[in-house]
Amino acid sequence: MQYARKRVLVSGGAGFLGSHLIDRLLERGDEVICLDNLFTGDKRNIEHLFGNPRFEFIRHDVCFPIYLEVDEIYNLACPASPIHYQHDPVQTTKTSVHGAINMLGLAKRIGAKIFQASTSEVYGDPNVHPQKEEYWGNVNPIGIRSCYDEGKRCAETLFFDYHRQHGLEIKVARIFNTYGPRMNPEDGRVVSNFIMQALKGEDITLYGDGLQTRSFCYRDDLVEAFLRIMDTPKEVSGPINIGNPGEFTIKQLAELVVKLTNSSSKLIYLPLPQDDPMQRQPDISKAKSLLDWEPKVKLEDGLISTISYFDELLKSS
Ligand code: NAD
Ligand code: UDP
Ligand code: UDP
Repeated sequence: MQYARKRVLVSGGAGFLGSHLIDRLLERGDEVICLDNLFTGDKRNIEHLFGNPRFEFIRHDVCFPIYLEVDEIYNLACPASPIHYQHDPVQTTKTSVHGAINMLGLAKRIGAKIFQASTSEVYGDPNVHPQKEEYWGNVNPIGIRSCYDEGKRCAETLFFDYHRQHGLEIKVARIFNTYGPRMNPEDGRVVSNFIMQALKGEDITLYGDGLQTRSFCYRDDLVEAFLRIMDTPKEVSGPINIGNPGEFTIKQLAELVVKLTNSSSKLIYLPLPQDDPMQRQPDISKAKSLLDWEPKVKLEDGLISTISYFDELLKSS
Protein backbone atom coordinates (compact mmCIF):
# COMPACT_ATOMS: atom_id res chain seq x y z
CA MET A 1 0.00 0.00 0.00
CA GLN A 2 1.30 3.48 -0.83
CA TYR A 3 2.13 5.78 2.11
CA ALA A 4 -0.35 8.65 2.47
CA ARG A 5 1.91 11.69 2.65
CA LYS A 6 1.12 14.13 5.46
CA ARG A 7 1.85 17.83 5.91
CA VAL A 8 3.56 18.17 9.27
CA LEU A 9 4.51 21.25 11.27
CA VAL A 10 7.40 20.94 13.74
CA SER A 11 7.85 23.91 16.06
CA GLY A 12 11.35 23.99 17.53
CA GLY A 13 12.45 21.97 14.49
CA ALA A 14 15.94 23.48 14.27
CA GLY A 15 16.82 22.15 17.72
CA PHE A 16 18.37 18.89 18.83
CA LEU A 17 15.27 16.67 18.95
CA GLY A 18 13.22 18.59 16.38
CA SER A 19 15.83 18.26 13.64
CA HIS A 20 16.08 14.48 14.12
CA LEU A 21 12.30 14.19 14.11
CA ILE A 22 12.20 16.13 10.82
CA ASP A 23 14.79 13.78 9.28
CA ARG A 24 12.55 10.82 10.12
CA LEU A 25 9.39 12.51 8.81
CA LEU A 26 11.05 13.39 5.50
CA GLU A 27 12.49 9.88 5.20
CA ARG A 28 9.02 8.39 5.35
CA GLY A 29 7.74 10.81 2.72
CA ASP A 30 6.02 13.62 4.61
CA GLU A 31 6.09 17.34 3.81
CA VAL A 32 7.56 19.27 6.71
CA ILE A 33 7.39 22.88 7.83
CA CYS A 34 9.99 23.72 10.47
CA LEU A 35 9.11 26.72 12.60
CA ASP A 36 11.87 28.06 14.83
CA ASN A 37 13.16 31.40 16.11
CA LEU A 38 16.70 29.93 16.40
CA PHE A 39 17.02 30.91 20.06
CA THR A 40 18.75 27.65 21.01
CA GLY A 41 18.43 25.88 17.68
CA ASP A 42 20.86 26.18 14.83
CA LYS A 43 20.43 26.34 11.06
CA ARG A 44 23.30 23.86 10.83
CA ASN A 45 20.96 21.18 12.24
CA ILE A 46 18.69 21.51 9.21
CA GLU A 47 20.95 22.89 6.46
CA HIS A 48 21.22 19.45 4.85
CA LEU A 49 17.47 19.74 4.16
CA PHE A 50 17.43 23.11 2.40
CA GLY A 51 17.43 21.60 -1.11
CA ASN A 52 14.56 19.22 -0.31
CA PRO A 53 11.31 20.36 -2.01
CA ARG A 54 9.28 18.73 0.78
CA PHE A 55 11.02 20.86 3.44
CA GLU A 56 10.39 24.49 4.39
CA PHE A 57 11.92 26.59 7.17
CA ILE A 58 10.06 29.54 8.70
CA ARG A 59 11.86 31.77 11.18
CA HIS A 60 9.12 32.59 13.66
CA ASP A 61 8.51 32.93 17.41
CA VAL A 62 5.66 30.65 18.58
CA CYS A 63 4.55 33.35 21.03
CA PHE A 64 2.95 35.04 18.00
CA PRO A 65 0.07 33.68 15.91
CA ILE A 66 0.73 31.96 12.62
CA TYR A 67 -1.66 30.74 9.94
CA LEU A 68 -0.74 27.54 8.10
CA GLU A 69 -2.47 24.44 6.73
CA VAL A 70 -1.12 21.10 7.99
CA ASP A 71 -2.37 17.68 9.10
CA GLU A 72 -0.21 17.21 12.19
CA ILE A 73 1.67 19.50 14.58
CA TYR A 74 4.59 18.59 16.85
CA ASN A 75 5.08 21.37 19.42
CA LEU A 76 8.72 21.27 20.54
CA ALA A 77 9.56 24.97 20.67
CA CYS A 78 11.10 25.75 24.07
CA PRO A 79 14.64 26.07 25.37
CA ALA A 80 15.38 22.83 27.22
CA SER A 81 18.62 23.23 29.15
CA PRO A 82 18.70 25.04 32.51
CA ILE A 83 21.23 27.69 31.41
CA HIS A 84 19.16 28.49 28.33
CA TYR A 85 15.72 28.50 29.94
CA GLN A 86 17.03 30.53 32.90
CA HIS A 87 18.64 33.10 30.57
CA ASP A 88 15.27 34.84 30.04
CA PRO A 89 12.81 33.06 32.34
CA VAL A 90 9.85 35.28 31.46
CA GLN A 91 10.34 34.44 27.79
CA THR A 92 10.55 30.74 28.71
CA THR A 93 7.13 30.78 30.37
CA LYS A 94 5.72 32.80 27.46
CA THR A 95 7.13 30.31 24.98
CA SER A 96 5.51 27.36 26.77
CA VAL A 97 2.19 29.04 27.47
CA HIS A 98 1.60 31.47 24.58
CA GLY A 99 3.32 29.02 22.23
CA ALA A 100 0.94 26.24 23.31
CA ILE A 101 -2.09 28.54 22.91
CA ASN A 102 -1.07 29.53 19.39
CA MET A 103 -0.28 25.98 18.30
CA LEU A 104 -3.55 24.74 19.85
CA GLY A 105 -5.49 27.60 18.22
CA LEU A 106 -3.95 26.62 14.90
CA ALA A 107 -4.78 22.92 15.46
CA LYS A 108 -8.35 23.87 16.38
CA ARG A 109 -8.89 25.99 13.26
CA ILE A 110 -7.60 23.38 10.83
CA GLY A 111 -8.57 20.19 12.69
CA ALA A 112 -4.96 18.97 13.03
CA LYS A 113 -3.70 16.39 15.48
CA ILE A 114 -1.23 17.97 17.92
CA PHE A 115 1.68 16.56 19.94
CA GLN A 116 3.23 18.26 22.96
CA ALA A 117 6.85 17.74 24.02
CA SER A 118 6.31 17.82 27.77
CA THR A 119 8.94 16.83 30.28
CA SER A 120 9.84 14.79 33.33
CA GLU A 121 10.33 18.21 34.98
CA VAL A 122 6.56 18.27 35.58
CA TYR A 123 7.40 15.81 38.40
CA GLY A 124 9.84 18.34 39.93
CA ASP A 125 12.01 16.86 42.68
CA PRO A 126 9.93 13.69 42.91
CA ASN A 127 9.05 11.91 46.14
CA VAL A 128 7.68 8.93 44.21
CA HIS A 129 10.18 6.68 42.47
CA PRO A 130 10.16 5.67 39.65
CA GLN A 131 7.76 8.27 38.28
CA LYS A 132 4.44 7.09 36.88
CA GLU A 133 2.16 9.35 34.83
CA GLU A 134 -0.39 9.37 37.68
CA TYR A 135 2.08 11.15 40.00
CA TRP A 136 1.25 14.88 40.25
CA GLY A 137 4.77 15.99 41.04
CA ASN A 138 6.64 18.09 43.56
CA VAL A 139 7.40 21.39 41.85
CA ASN A 140 8.52 24.65 43.43
CA PRO A 141 6.30 27.33 41.80
CA ILE A 142 8.69 30.23 42.53
CA GLY A 143 12.19 28.83 42.08
CA ILE A 144 14.74 29.28 39.31
CA ARG A 145 13.54 26.16 37.46
CA SER A 146 9.86 27.12 37.73
CA CYS A 147 9.67 29.04 34.44
CA TYR A 148 10.34 25.76 32.66
CA ASP A 149 8.57 23.32 34.98
CA GLU A 150 5.43 25.38 35.53
CA GLY A 151 5.38 26.59 31.91
CA LYS A 152 5.33 22.97 30.76
CA ARG A 153 2.71 22.06 33.39
CA CYS A 154 0.48 24.91 32.21
CA ALA A 155 0.98 23.80 28.59
CA GLU A 156 -0.25 20.32 29.57
CA THR A 157 -3.30 21.93 31.21
CA LEU A 158 -4.02 23.86 28.01
CA PHE A 159 -3.66 20.71 25.89
CA PHE A 160 -6.14 18.79 28.04
CA ASP A 161 -8.58 21.72 28.18
CA TYR A 162 -8.51 22.18 24.38
CA HIS A 163 -9.13 18.43 24.18
CA ARG A 164 -12.07 18.47 26.61
CA GLN A 165 -13.53 21.84 25.59
CA HIS A 166 -12.91 21.84 21.84
CA GLY A 167 -12.51 18.13 21.05
CA LEU A 168 -8.92 18.42 19.78
CA GLU A 169 -6.95 15.24 19.24
CA ILE A 170 -3.92 15.68 21.51
CA LYS A 171 -0.84 13.57 22.25
CA VAL A 172 1.25 14.50 25.29
CA ALA A 173 4.69 12.93 25.84
CA ARG A 174 6.68 13.43 29.04
CA ILE A 175 10.28 13.24 27.93
CA PHE A 176 13.08 12.25 30.30
CA ASN A 177 16.72 13.34 29.77
CA THR A 178 17.70 12.64 26.18
CA TYR A 179 21.11 12.97 24.54
CA GLY A 180 22.85 12.40 21.23
CA PRO A 181 24.48 14.09 18.25
CA ARG A 182 23.31 17.69 17.53
CA MET A 183 22.98 18.54 21.21
CA ASN A 184 24.20 22.08 21.58
CA PRO A 185 27.78 21.79 22.98
CA GLU A 186 27.29 25.03 24.94
CA ASP A 187 23.97 24.18 26.54
CA GLY A 188 25.39 23.18 29.92
CA ARG A 189 23.49 19.90 30.06
CA VAL A 190 25.33 17.13 31.81
CA VAL A 191 26.04 14.89 28.82
CA SER A 192 27.31 17.67 26.55
CA ASN A 193 29.28 19.30 29.37
CA PHE A 194 31.04 16.10 30.45
CA ILE A 195 31.90 15.04 26.90
CA MET A 196 33.25 18.47 25.94
CA GLN A 197 35.25 18.70 29.18
CA ALA A 198 36.66 15.21 28.70
CA LEU A 199 37.62 15.82 25.07
CA LYS A 200 39.35 19.09 25.95
CA GLY A 201 41.11 17.54 28.98
CA GLU A 202 39.37 20.01 31.31
CA ASP A 203 38.06 19.18 34.80
CA ILE A 204 34.73 17.35 34.85
CA THR A 205 32.33 19.46 36.91
CA LEU A 206 30.11 17.41 39.22
CA TYR A 207 27.44 19.49 40.94
CA GLY A 208 26.79 18.47 44.55
CA ASP A 209 28.07 15.04 45.58
CA GLY A 210 27.34 13.60 42.13
CA LEU A 211 25.04 11.00 43.69
CA GLN A 212 21.86 12.48 42.18
CA THR A 213 20.49 10.25 39.43
CA ARG A 214 19.17 10.65 35.91
CA SER A 215 17.99 8.20 33.26
CA PHE A 216 19.41 8.90 29.81
CA CYS A 217 17.62 8.07 26.58
CA TYR A 218 19.34 8.07 23.18
CA ARG A 219 17.73 10.35 20.59
CA ASP A 220 16.87 7.59 18.05
CA ASP A 221 14.82 5.72 20.63
CA LEU A 222 13.05 8.92 21.58
CA VAL A 223 12.15 9.99 18.05
CA GLU A 224 10.75 6.52 17.34
CA ALA A 225 8.46 6.97 20.35
CA PHE A 226 7.30 10.41 19.09
CA LEU A 227 6.15 8.88 15.81
CA ARG A 228 4.41 6.00 17.57
CA ILE A 229 2.59 8.35 19.95
CA MET A 230 1.32 10.49 17.07
CA ASP A 231 -0.06 7.32 15.43
CA THR A 232 -1.98 6.06 18.48
CA PRO A 233 -5.79 5.86 18.23
CA LYS A 234 -7.80 9.05 18.83
CA GLU A 235 -8.74 8.10 22.40
CA VAL A 236 -5.06 7.98 23.47
CA SER A 237 -4.05 11.46 24.68
CA GLY A 238 -1.39 10.59 27.24
CA PRO A 239 0.50 11.81 29.07
CA ILE A 240 2.99 9.04 28.28
CA ASN A 241 6.45 8.86 29.83
CA ILE A 242 9.22 8.44 27.26
CA GLY A 243 12.70 7.72 28.51
CA ASN A 244 15.21 5.04 29.29
CA PRO A 245 14.66 3.44 32.71
CA GLY A 246 18.40 2.74 33.11
CA GLU A 247 19.24 4.98 36.08
CA PHE A 248 22.78 6.28 36.73
CA THR A 249 24.34 8.62 39.24
CA ILE A 250 25.95 11.68 37.73
CA LYS A 251 29.28 10.40 39.06
CA GLN A 252 28.83 7.10 37.19
CA LEU A 253 28.12 9.08 34.03
CA ALA A 254 31.29 11.14 34.54
CA GLU A 255 33.41 8.02 35.04
CA LEU A 256 31.94 6.38 31.94
CA VAL A 257 32.62 9.46 29.80
CA VAL A 258 36.21 9.63 31.06
CA LYS A 259 36.70 5.95 30.24
CA LEU A 260 35.15 6.14 26.76
CA THR A 261 37.12 9.24 25.78
CA ASN A 262 40.35 7.94 27.30
CA SER A 263 40.64 11.34 28.93
CA SER A 264 43.05 12.60 31.56
CA SER A 265 40.35 14.89 33.02
CA LYS A 266 39.80 14.89 36.78
CA LEU A 267 36.44 14.99 38.56
CA ILE A 268 35.84 18.13 40.61
CA TYR A 269 32.89 19.04 42.82
CA LEU A 270 30.92 22.31 42.56
CA PRO A 271 27.81 23.48 44.45
CA LEU A 272 24.48 21.88 43.54
CA PRO A 273 22.12 24.35 41.80
CA GLN A 274 18.90 25.28 43.62
CA ASP A 275 15.98 22.79 43.29
CA ASP A 276 18.10 20.26 41.38
CA PRO A 277 16.08 16.99 41.44
CA MET A 278 17.83 14.20 43.39
CA GLN A 279 16.53 11.25 41.44
CA ARG A 280 14.70 10.59 38.24
CA GLN A 281 13.64 7.39 36.51
CA PRO A 282 10.68 6.87 34.21
CA ASP A 283 8.12 4.15 34.68
CA ILE A 284 7.52 3.28 31.03
CA SER A 285 4.81 0.61 31.46
CA LYS A 286 2.34 2.82 29.61
CA ALA A 287 4.67 3.35 26.65
CA LYS A 288 5.34 -0.39 26.51
CA SER A 289 1.68 -1.33 26.44
CA LEU A 290 0.27 1.53 24.33
CA LEU A 291 3.15 1.96 21.87
CA ASP A 292 4.87 -1.41 22.00
CA TRP A 293 7.99 0.68 22.57
CA GLU A 294 11.02 0.49 24.77
CA PRO A 295 14.48 1.97 24.33
CA LYS A 296 17.06 -0.18 22.60
CA VAL A 297 20.28 1.85 22.77
CA LYS A 298 22.50 1.25 25.81
CA LEU A 299 24.08 4.28 27.49
CA GLU A 300 27.59 3.21 26.55
CA ASP A 301 26.70 2.80 22.84
CA GLY A 302 24.79 6.09 22.71
CA LEU A 303 27.68 7.89 24.39
CA ILE A 304 30.18 6.49 21.88
CA SER A 305 28.28 8.02 18.94
CA THR A 306 27.70 11.28 20.82
CA ILE A 307 31.40 11.49 21.68
CA SER A 308 32.39 11.06 18.03
CA TYR A 309 29.93 13.84 17.03
CA PHE A 310 31.44 16.28 19.54
CA ASP A 311 34.94 15.18 18.57
CA GLU A 312 34.24 16.06 14.90
CA LEU A 313 32.73 19.36 16.00
CA LEU A 314 35.87 20.28 17.95
CA LYS A 315 38.13 19.30 15.07
CA SER A 316 36.16 21.40 12.55
CA SER A 317 35.97 24.51 14.77
P1 NAD B 1 16.62 22.56 21.85
O1 NAD B 1 16.91 23.76 22.66
O2 NAD B 1 17.73 21.97 21.04
O3 NAD B 1 15.39 22.79 20.90
C1 NAD B 1 14.35 23.71 21.16
C2 NAD B 1 14.09 24.50 19.90
O4 NAD B 1 13.01 25.43 20.14
C3 NAD B 1 15.28 25.31 19.44
O5 NAD B 1 15.54 25.10 18.07
C4 NAD B 1 14.86 26.76 19.72
O6 NAD B 1 15.47 27.70 18.87
C5 NAD B 1 13.37 26.66 19.56
N1 NAD B 1 12.64 27.74 20.26
C6 NAD B 1 12.82 28.16 21.54
N2 NAD B 1 11.97 29.16 21.82
C7 NAD B 1 11.22 29.36 20.69
C8 NAD B 1 10.20 30.27 20.35
N3 NAD B 1 9.72 31.16 21.23
N4 NAD B 1 9.67 30.21 19.09
C9 NAD B 1 10.14 29.32 18.19
N5 NAD B 1 11.13 28.45 18.46
C10 NAD B 1 11.65 28.46 19.70
O7 NAD B 1 16.06 21.45 22.88
P2 NAD B 1 15.63 19.94 22.65
O8 NAD B 1 16.41 19.12 23.59
O9 NAD B 1 15.62 19.60 21.21
O10 NAD B 1 14.13 19.97 23.19
C11 NAD B 1 13.02 19.97 22.33
C12 NAD B 1 11.74 19.91 23.16
O11 NAD B 1 11.74 18.71 23.95
C13 NAD B 1 11.60 21.08 24.13
O12 NAD B 1 10.23 21.46 24.18
C14 NAD B 1 12.01 20.49 25.46
O13 NAD B 1 11.38 21.13 26.52
C15 NAD B 1 11.55 19.04 25.31
N6 NAD B 1 12.33 18.14 26.18
C16 NAD B 1 13.62 17.82 25.89
C17 NAD B 1 14.34 16.99 26.75
C18 NAD B 1 15.76 16.59 26.47
O14 NAD B 1 16.36 15.92 27.32
N7 NAD B 1 16.35 16.90 25.35
C19 NAD B 1 13.72 16.50 27.92
C20 NAD B 1 12.41 16.88 28.18
C21 NAD B 1 11.71 17.69 27.31
N1 UDP C 1 -4.09 31.08 16.19
C1 UDP C 1 -3.02 30.95 15.32
N2 UDP C 1 -3.24 30.36 14.11
C2 UDP C 1 -4.46 29.90 13.73
C3 UDP C 1 -5.53 30.02 14.63
C4 UDP C 1 -5.32 30.62 15.87
O1 UDP C 1 -1.90 31.34 15.60
O2 UDP C 1 -4.57 29.39 12.62
C5 UDP C 1 -3.85 31.71 17.49
C6 UDP C 1 -4.78 32.89 17.68
O3 UDP C 1 -4.08 34.06 17.39
C7 UDP C 1 -5.17 32.83 19.13
C8 UDP C 1 -4.69 31.48 19.62
O4 UDP C 1 -4.19 30.80 18.49
O5 UDP C 1 -4.48 33.79 19.87
C9 UDP C 1 -5.78 30.65 20.26
O6 UDP C 1 -6.81 30.47 19.32
P1 UDP C 1 -8.29 30.15 19.77
O7 UDP C 1 -9.12 30.02 18.54
O8 UDP C 1 -8.30 29.00 20.70
O9 UDP C 1 -8.67 31.37 20.65
P2 UDP C 1 -9.22 32.82 20.31
O10 UDP C 1 -8.76 33.18 18.92
O11 UDP C 1 -10.69 32.66 20.39
O12 UDP C 1 -8.64 33.67 21.37
N1 UDP D 1 25.23 18.42 36.25
C1 UDP D 1 26.53 18.27 36.74
N2 UDP D 1 27.55 18.87 36.04
C2 UDP D 1 27.34 19.57 34.90
C3 UDP D 1 26.02 19.70 34.39
C4 UDP D 1 24.99 19.12 35.11
O1 UDP D 1 26.77 17.62 37.77
O2 UDP D 1 28.33 20.07 34.33
C5 UDP D 1 24.14 17.74 36.99
C6 UDP D 1 22.96 18.66 37.32
O3 UDP D 1 23.18 19.32 38.54
C7 UDP D 1 21.82 17.65 37.39
C8 UDP D 1 22.20 16.59 36.37
O4 UDP D 1 23.60 16.74 36.14
O5 UDP D 1 21.79 17.05 38.66
C9 UDP D 1 21.47 16.73 35.04
O6 UDP D 1 21.60 18.07 34.61
P1 UDP D 1 21.02 18.60 33.21
O7 UDP D 1 21.17 20.07 33.22
O8 UDP D 1 21.62 17.83 32.10
O9 UDP D 1 19.48 18.18 33.22
P2 UDP D 1 18.28 18.31 34.27
O10 UDP D 1 18.78 18.79 35.59
O11 UDP D 1 17.35 19.28 33.64
O12 UDP D 1 17.76 16.92 34.36
